[in-house]
Amino acid sequence: MRIVAANWKMNHLRADATAFMETLKAGWKPVEGVVAAVAPPFPLLPLLQGLAQGTPLRVYAQNAHAEAKGAFTGEVSMAMVQDAGACGVILGHSERRQYNGETEATLLPKLKAAAAQGLAPMLCVGETLAQRDAGETLAVLKAQLAILAGTGFPGLAIAYEPVWAIGTGRVATVAQIAEVHAFIRGELKALLGDQGAATPILYGGSVTPDNFAEILRVPDVAGGLVGGASLDPAKFLRLLELAA
Ligand code: PGA
Repeated sequence: MRIVAANWKMNHLRADATAFMETLKAGWKPVEGVVAAVAPPFPLLPLLQGLAQGTPLRVYAQNAHAEAKGAFTGEVSMAMVQDAGACGVILGHSERRQYNGETEATLLPKLKAAAAQGLAPMLCVGETLAQRDAGETLAVLKAQLAILAGTGFPGLAIAYEPVWAIGTGRVATVAQIAEVHAFIRGELKALLGDQGAATPILYGGSVTPDNFAEILRVPDVAGGLVGGASLDPAKFLRLLELAA
């Protein structure tokens, strides 16, 4: 199975989402084994879920809170994003680690809350440039993945996104992706057994229609988590074609 997931981040209004879906639906020929997902900002979840009716598009949230409800001004629960149309949730994106203080300590309760709610978690992991330069890449990834220990999370996917490759136009090399994906596969098997052997591992960071085919050929790459290029429905369609 391959997954092409669009992370819209803090982009798009209702009109943009509507136009995106019109173009997508006009050009998309879904094929067996290729999952398309879009993670819009919270306010667009219900609209996107409605527009996706009759298509296999999966709608994800970009984050949600670990607590079920309560006095958490500005936060949104797992049940709320599900109620608004999400079937999964991105957790631990590097921008949330950087700007919103996400750590393994905040992410483990979120993973558990997502699983309890029946939402498929997509856990993002990745090293910063300073960590890579210091030779710490694999140790950082090991620590980020360790929160998966011992628990199965239905629908789990991992997105490896080197922080230095996100939004920079600087894609990781095939050799770098191959080394890290093989390492993540080993960690997942050790942590989760059979589920770890089958968990999709996506690559993210400056994925475009120009580099995606080469990335997809790397062993243990099961698709892409795509930011910038996913805002353009023509490019997203092209990425889906390349994954087929
Ligand atoms: P990018 O973002 O494709 O714009 O580099 C990827 C991501 O942050 O998920």
